[in-house]
Amino acid sequence: MRLSTLAGAVLIAALAGCAAVPPASQVPAHTQAEERARNVIFFLGDGMGLNTLTAARIFHAGEAGELTIDRLPESAFVKTFSNDAMVTDSAAGMAAYMTGVKHNNGVISMSFGTRSVAPGKDANGNALVSKCEGGSPATTLLELARKRGMALGVVTNTSVTDATPASAYGHGCHRKLETDFAAMLVPGGAGYNPALGARGLDVMFGGGAQFFTPFASGGKRADNRDLLAEMQAQGFRVARDSASFKALALDARQPAIGLFAPNHMDYDATRDPAKQPSLTEMTRKAIDLLAPHAGAQGKGFFLVVEGGLIDHALHATLAKRALQETVSYNDAMQAALEKMEQLDPGLKNTLIVATADHDHTLLLNGYTVRTGKTTPTNPGVLGLVRNLDGSPKLDKEGRPFTIIGFGTGENRTNGPRSSQPALTDEIVTRDDYHQEAVVRTRTGAETHGGTDVYLGAAGAGAELFRGTIDNTRVFGLIKTAAGL
Ligand SMILES: [Zn+2]
Repeated sequence: MRLSTLAGAVLIAALAGCAAVPPASQVPAHTQAEERARNVIFFLGDGMGLNTLTAARIFHAGEAGELTIDRLPESAFVKTFSNDAMVTDSAAGMAAYMTGVKHNNGVISMSFGTRSVAPGKDANGNALVSKCEGGSPATTLLELARKRGMALGVVTNTSVTDATPASAYGHGCHRKLETDFAAMLVPGGAGYNPALGARGLDVMFGGGAQFFTPFASGGKRADNRDLLAEMQAQGFRVARDSASFKALALDARQPAIGLFAPNHMDYDATRDPAKQPSLTEMTRKAIDLLAPHAGAQGKGFFLVVEGGLIDHALHATLAKRALQETVSYNDAMQAALEKMEQLDPGLKNTLIVATADHDHTLLLNGYTVRTGKTTPTNPGVLGLVRNLDGSPKLDKEGRPFTIIGFGTGENRTNGPRSSQPALTDEIVTRDDYHQEAVVRTRTGAETHGGTDVYLGAAGAGAELFRGTIDNTRVFGLIKTAAGL
């Protein structure tokens, strides 16, 4: 290991001397194996495949620019297939990272082979409790971290009960059991996940208030429990909008939960800042609240941050929204790195891992002239494929086409493209433009893709991540790096 790390360093040094290669990392990769990562931040861009990542880089910084994830010094490619499918869903994808167990699609952090069992529905169409047919909870990284006394946090811009966050703190045979996952967060209450210890998560920010709220109050809970009231009675501080979020005192050791939408939060470009904080603001605040645990006196923390709406925008084939969401996820990562550099200079005791759970079918068509980054006057990667002289490149039917397309999606031309009005940059850069797809699906049903995803790592133990690895291996590497 040490030899190959050294060889890697020599290689990086050699590459850095080559003018064609941009400067290597500005983020340290700490390689002292004896220094355990006391703090871990796991970033998950939901559905942020390689093509989306590349498109977001061009959108944000131009072809030769960089996203924060590009500057993480260590990297790997991750195979994402699930136990029963070539193309994973978010439940099996995140559960593999959190437990090291290959999951069947739809299953949330359970033992190997557990089948996905769809819950029944009540008269209102809400998911009811369902029992697993066999299968038992598989231990997650957060539960291992709790055993070591580390503080725990989860931040997302989807519902906190959605498949990705739920796989970090909960267990269940089907991702739709969202009212069950909410109950798993209430210490002492029925359905609580005791592996989270006596105090539960220290910080949780996202959407999903309806899964904590009784039917009688307009929520989804058939048991009529008011989970937020129960949590408040147990000492949790509760935020429901940006004002109460900002008012959460930083020095308090009481746990905090902030739920800013009934279900998922809004796209960053359309959210009301008075009601919903940004992913960056939530990430910063989470680190501020966890910081007392990070110092020499504390036992460290484990924080999961999900950019969950990248996936939603891609399912809708709204490339502009997907790239904006990827940038907002990138901003949150940048903010976290800056904060951790202040708390732990050189990231000597902090491991940052950033990856995705699966790909989507977004693709980049050739051979467009370089566009540079997207601005109010330059469509950039969202625009039409153009020849070197700037004229739109035409398909065989004489019609222009976009740089970004999808394999599956709701917008496939009926009949020849020549029967449709010619696309213009004005049309294809609209907020609600759905890029064309090869195969037509129902609205919002663009599919995940099966290509490997990228993983970047920085800080203590980051050098463990290299080569092409299975998604279940990520669990073991984080466990080793953090000494869990
Ligand atoms: Zn998805």
